[in-house]
Amino acid sequence: MMNPYQNIRKELEDNGTAVWADKPLADYTTFGIGGPARLLAEIRQTEHLRKAVQLACQYRVPYKIIGNGSNLIVSDSGFDGFIIINQTAKWEILGRPNKPCPSAKRKDIRFNGPRANGLFAAGLHSGPLEDVLVRVDSGLKINTLAQSLYRHGISGLQWFAGIPATVGGAIYMNMHGARRFFGDLIHSACLTDGRKSYIVNREYFKFGYDRSILQTSKEIVLWVELCLKKGGVASARKISKAWSRQKAIQPQRSAGCVFQNLRADEQERLGLPTPSIGYVIDRLLGLKGTVRGGACISSSHAAFIENKGKATCADVLELIELIKSKAQKELGLELRMEAEILGTINKE
Ligand SMILES: Cc1cc2nc3c(=O)[nH]c(=O)nc-3n(C[C@H](O)[C@H](O)[C@H](O)COP(=O)(O)OP(=O)(O)OC[C@H]3O[C@@H](n4cnc5c(N)ncnc54)[C@H](O)[C@@H]3O)c2cc1C
Repeated sequence: MMNPYQNIRKELEDNGTAVWADKPLADYTTFGIGGPARLLAEIRQTEHLRKAVQLACQYRVPYKIIGNGSNLIVSDSGFDGFIIINQTAKWEILGRPNKPCPSAKRKDIRFNGPRANGLFAAGLHSGPLEDVLVRVDSGLKINTLAQSLYRHGISGLQWFAGIPATVGGAIYMNMHGARRFFGDLIHSACLTDGRKSYIVNREYFKFGYDRSILQTSKEIVLWVELCLKKGGVASARKISKAWSRQKAIQPQRSAGCVFQNLRADEQERLGLPTPSIGYVIDRLLGLKGTVRGGACISSSHAAFIENKGKATCADVLELIELIKSKAQKELGLELRMEAEILGTINKE
């Protein structure tokens, strides 16, 4: 008799999906860190994504979806379950929505990051441009989508240029760029819980700073309809370029900012000029450049831990513990993780 993983493998291979046992997850994260997944499938079509999630639920195996792996710190012992690599990448322009897209209630979420200035301080959209709906698979990379849409005269994703995210990962984390939140662009989305799939609207996600309902509900985004703008492409390209240049100096072999920025009350208590966690790690804790094994608290941006070559998850976790305990002891700060740890870590 076949075990659950063999059953999943067989059913997915029957529909042409590439499946592996014991494939290193380091190959699927921007950090380049992580041991093997018991079973891993690279999914290219939405229908197959729906099927993969359904099979994981049907056979009751632990599973996790990975987009571009740019917010993940994966255990050296890997993930003892089924990893779904989401490479779905179709998109289409749907046209004008029936009703104008509701604007984001900006007071709902406080952006606790450094202030934007110059080009980046402008409104979410440049002027009174017409709304346009675009349906996008959840595995598509934001940068690829933005560039394709500019060629079709559509703007709106410029604020997220240079962030190595897929659409699904961006929704899960409510990705932020230049003081904008990705969640604000959502018109509706198709989710699955492994048994059924259904359409929800933006409110369903209960977006917050680094937060969405997906983090607790564990639902998977299949596709999304984004409310973008017709026109404004020249200025969008300018913003994209400038923002990408700023992002390019951040360490790419990383999982982005490891910790969240400070809350307003924490910033006020410490009397700091900025809520930036990078400022705290660099100026207050003096940890910039600290090395453990192959991992380093980045000298270009202290909020990032960088893989300098052959870093292990254990090296990264050691640096995380160092930052956390020093922040607690010296500043009375309980730091909150922005990057997510995946897999079992007590064996490190
Ligand atoms: C150099 C660098 C710069 C960065 N800059 C920024 C920045 O400016 N702003 C910012 O917000 N973040 C930034 N990040 C972090 C990261 O890019 C974002 O958090 C991004 O949204 C993660 O997307 P991903 O596709 O890589 O998600 P992954 O890392 O693959 O996954 C993250 C989480 O989302 C879940 N997930 C992925 N796809 C789906 C789906 N379809 N349905 C349900 N859940 C899903 C995963 O299971 C996981 O829990 C940066 C990272 C790097 C490496």
